[in-house]
Amino acid sequence: MGAKEACAVVGAYSTRGTDVVQKILKALEALQHRGQESWGVAVAGKPAFKRMGLAFNWVNFARELAQYKGPSGIGHVRYSTKGRSNLGNAQPIQFGNEFSMGHNGTIFNSEELKKTVLSQRASVDCSTDTKVVGQRLLQILREENDWFWTLERLAKEVKGAYSLAILNKRGEVFAVRDPRGYRPLSIGFHKKSGTHIAASESCAFAAVDAEFVRDVEPGEMIRLGGPKRGFESFRFAPKMEPAHCSFEYTYFAHPSSVINGVNVYEARKSVGRILARRKAMKGKVVIPVPDSARPAALGYSTESGIPLDEGLMKDRYRRKGSMRSFIEPRQGGREEVVKRIIPIKETIKGKDVIVVDDSVVRGTSSDIIVEALRAAGAKSIKMAITFPPIMHPCYMGVDFPNREELLAYRVARGETDVDAIGAKVARSLGVDEVRYNDIDGLASAIGLPKESLCYACVNGDYSKLTLPERAKGSKA
Ligand code: SF4
Repeated sequence: MGAKEACAVVGAYSTRGTDVVQKILKALEALQHRGQESWGVAVAGKPAFKRMGLAFNWVNFARELAQYKGPSGIGHVRYSTKGRSNLGNAQPIQFGNEFSMGHNGTIFNSEELKKTVLSQRASVDCSTDTKVVGQRLLQILREENDWFWTLERLAKEVKGAYSLAILNKRGEVFAVRDPRGYRPLSIGFHKKSGTHIAASESCAFAAVDAEFVRDVEPGEMIRLGGPKRGFESFRFAPKMEPAHCSFEYTYFAHPSSVINGVNVYEARKSVGRILARRKAMKGKVVIPVPDSARPAALGYSTESGIPLDEGLMKDRYRRKGSMRSFIEPRQGGREEVVKRIIPIKETIKGKDVIVVDDSVVRGTSSDIIVEALRAAGAKSIKMAITFPPIMHPCYMGVDFPNREELLAYRVARGETDVDAIGAKVARSLGVDEVRYNDIDGLASAIGLPKESLCYACVNGDYSKLTLPERAKGSKA
């Protein structure tokens, strides 16, 4: 625990002209785990409605929101990776009179792209990567006057992760996923109202009684409500080897979501099973770090035969008790969240504990958890970590701290063997043993081809941060 990721997007279009704003708001609530700093919705012909804080607070603005109605719209919850956490950077953001846009991801070459944008018009706001890519999109759109050719050109300029929800001035909604498919994006359908919904994760569909239809493919643009009214698919970039973020499966995404055909809960259980098989440790009780490591701990327990018990509980009734430490913007805030985890002495006292966690980033959260387990009387503490050692930064949408702050890098730089890294991290945390998963174990737990996943924060391989190899997609 202890890193952060940028955002979730939603887009909706009803072929029957039904108002979609309530559905967008409910979908944003369901996606809250991806961003807890600010939220916003946009419908055609109005400035976006945006507020700081949690999306479920929309009920406090029901009167103002009553003026926001329409058969199409987009929404966004934000966690900042680039740019400050303030209302000016909250999304959706409007670009000219042409469109509003929400973005999940990080644009790797935003500085380069910014120079291109400013060379055409020096006065535009390029203070975040989302604003840079939106401004460039606007410039190209004004030249091309066609969304497909605009995205086809944009893909040749932009390196990085972008899942986008775009609402244009005609009320058409576009769901766009970058050619590598770093961040998730999927489509659902609400039959009764004839509404297609695009959302960062499929968990949003259950919140609005919609059915999951499918993932948006990497390099695909889906238009909702174009001249054909319904759903149209375009490939704006040629097929490239995907680089789906492996961290989504172990930490970030909601367990109920299906991403690239894989259910996150099953992947987490499987990662626990594989870790117990490949990196077995002896202990008397398996304890999950709440909440994201719970399925992995269950898998670990099932495979090892060591009983599972709840030894660490989130205090949900205090301020920040229900928040996720990962997406707290300040380090102090993250620690505050972890401190809201209360140990249960009766489960821990006098026992050899195997604590299962999804990741170690700075190690500050782990320190607090180890301290709590010691205070509760654990006889020995071993840690099973489902994500391999994080040794490198992420430029594709997860804001890990700088390299010097990453615990595994700090204590084991130059080391590549996960067991040797685990031994050094164990010494640093003052625990008896740390067993990390490795890339092979992680890929086999997720169940997707190893080469279709990204592990750049583990192995420093950023070779997929490239532009499409061939020039054109297809407008078929
Ligand atoms: S570098 Fe790590 S966190 Fe970033 S996209 Fe790749 S796997 Fe995900």
